[in-house]
Amino acid sequence: MKKNIVAGNWKMNMNLDEGKKLAEEVSGMIRKKPLKAINGSPDVIFFTPFIHLVDVSKIIEGLDGVGVGAQNCYSKPSGAFTGEVSASMIKSTGAGHVLVGHSERRSLFNENNKMLAAKASVAVENGLNVVFCCGETLEERENSRHFDVVRNQLREGLFWMDNKSFSNAVIAYEPVWAIGTGVTASPEQAQEMHAFIRDLVNEKYGNQIAQDTTILYGGSCNPKNANQLFQQEDVDGGLVGGASLKAGDFFKIIQSF
Ligand code: PEP
Repeated sequence: MKKNIVAGNWKMNMNLDEGKKLAEEVSGMIRKKPLKAINGSPDVIFFTPFIHLVDVSKIIEGLDGVGVGAQNCYSKPSGAFTGEVSASMIKSTGAGHVLVGHSERRSLFNENNKMLAAKASVAVENGLNVVFCCGETLEERENSRHFDVVRNQLREGLFWMDNKSFSNAVIAYEPVWAIGTGVTASPEQAQEMHAFIRDLVNEKYGNQIAQDTTILYGGSCNPKNANQLFQQEDVDGGLVGGASLKAGDFFKIIQSF
């Protein structure tokens, strides 16, 4: 079944105490108003830095529909890769999800589709749900290449999965020009790309899986624009960066369906 999801990507923000406080604040709001009582009954995922995973997992324990995930994992299962963090380590913290292919990873750390497929593969092998990010740059959109770019990112990075693994994956469409810029895709632009992505899933995995796939929008999503974006037929929630760092704003977005 398709789920609505609001996920927060904290990026490299929040020391341990600040992160715990933020997770406690949002969790407190959810305890007062459970997700099931909110329109659209969204699930919520906190994508925290690695160091917060254990504590945030404990903070959300017992909260229905709330999960924790890492923002990255390494592409190999274990070994001499100093400074890297494996999918099995992430899983052992209590986290259930991992972001793969965020545009900051692609552009700042040169992660290509092949590498991302390897990361997603090791994540799946270790029982993590993958939230796979895709999206075009402004230049690519201006040259009308946005559909080709997204198609290619999904085909090479994600569509190697079998039906069973893919059923646990979530796609996040994040136009690079909208991430952290304050410029949001219009609801029509988001809907157009989300419908295109659902068609691609349909071609590859069939109609039932396509209808059940959760496709999130990310890119300067905030309490003011979330409702209009989430009203679009193929927009099943959001991946939220900046606005997920303020408990009140994030909770408003959670309530935006
Ligand atoms: C993100 O980091 O995934 C993101 C969408 O950031 P922002 O909401 O700040 O644009």
